[in-house]
Amino acid sequence: MEKLGIAIIGGGPAGLAAGIYCSRGGADVKLFEEMFPGGQIVKTHKVENYPGITGGPDGYALAAALEKHAAEFDLPVVYGSVTDLQLTEKEKTFSVNGEAYAADAVILCMGAGPRKLGHPDEDRFVGAGVSYCATCDGNFYRGKDVAIVGGGDTAVSDALYLSGLCHKVYLVHRRDAFRAAGTLVDRVKRAKNVELVLDSAVVALSGEDRLVAVTVENKFTHEQRELPVSGLFVAVGILPRTELVRDQIDLDEGGFIVTDRNMQTNIPGVFAAGDIRNTPLRQVVTACADGAIAATKAVEYIGSLK
Ligand code: NAP
Repeated sequence: MEKLGIAIIGGGPAGLAAGIYCSRGGADVKLFEEMFPGGQIVKTHKVENYPGITGGPDGYALAAALEKHAAEFDLPVVYGSVTDLQLTEKEKTFSVNGEAYAADAVILCMGAGPRKLGHPDEDRFVGAGVSYCATCDGNFYRGKDVAIVGGGDTAVSDALYLSGLCHKVYLVHRRDAFRAAGTLVDRVKRAKNVELVLDSAVVALSGEDRLVAVTVENKFTHEQRELPVSGLFVAVGILPRTELVRDQIDLDEGGFIVTDRNMQTNIPGVFAAGDIRNTPLRQVVTACADGAIAATKAVEYIGSLK
């Protein structure tokens, strides 16, 4: 069994920032990432609000910069899925790629993934019209008509992105007020090929092998309208990736990990950072800040064990 001081699980902005702070702080640390670094930002076509990084780089570029920065401090990264994570004992243990590890402290940075719309036909059209990532799949719908459902930052910024690729974009939202930032909403309202379909829910998805239309219903008039679209982008929020820990750790009513302001969970030596925790704001800047705090406190914690 390999023994570590600090194990970081997840290589999004929170995990990479934690890695930079742990490595720079001289800790015996490893970061474990399932697929590729960057987390949710690799699905983002433009990161406009990370202070000091101007020009709105795409998420891949920012993820690559974070990864390079961590490499400059020699952060070891292991690629593979973490299994059998046990957090409640003093020594935390887990396995990756058949290797067993133990760590004095763990920083949980597994992030969050897209929430499904919950329509019974949704799964049938995944990869055949239904997508959860406009940046990944938008190009398949170049010149076509598409719909997006949701009213948060993701839905509105995706609508703006797709308006540059697609012929027509319907933005379907269940209310008439958006949760997204005002600047994004102003821009989407000005976009010539974006039609806002407000106070409306998706009630049907139609097509044989591929999606050809979605039907929306106005919640006040109950009037239904068929939108002839070949793509439906679902952007109705995120769910925390807590499968590994949900039986061991305190979660809030939304299923996010509860931490204090030091990113400390209810288990000594276990910290959480970024989208997976009960944060009031889910942005790259807050994920990085969480990672920095969690790392600093984890380094202090392992120091206190000596
Ligand atoms: P979100 O802010 O939770 O918004 C989800 C949207 O989907 C809400 O408008 C919600 O409607 C709607 N919704 C939820 N369930 C629905 C359902 N079953 N049917 C129809 N609509 C449904 O999620 P998000 O936009 O993915 O953003 C997640 C987090 O990432 C947020 O903290 C956001 O600020 C952040 N983010 C930031 C940026 C950026 O800064 N550039 C970009 C992307 C995401 P209601 O409004 O009626 O609840």
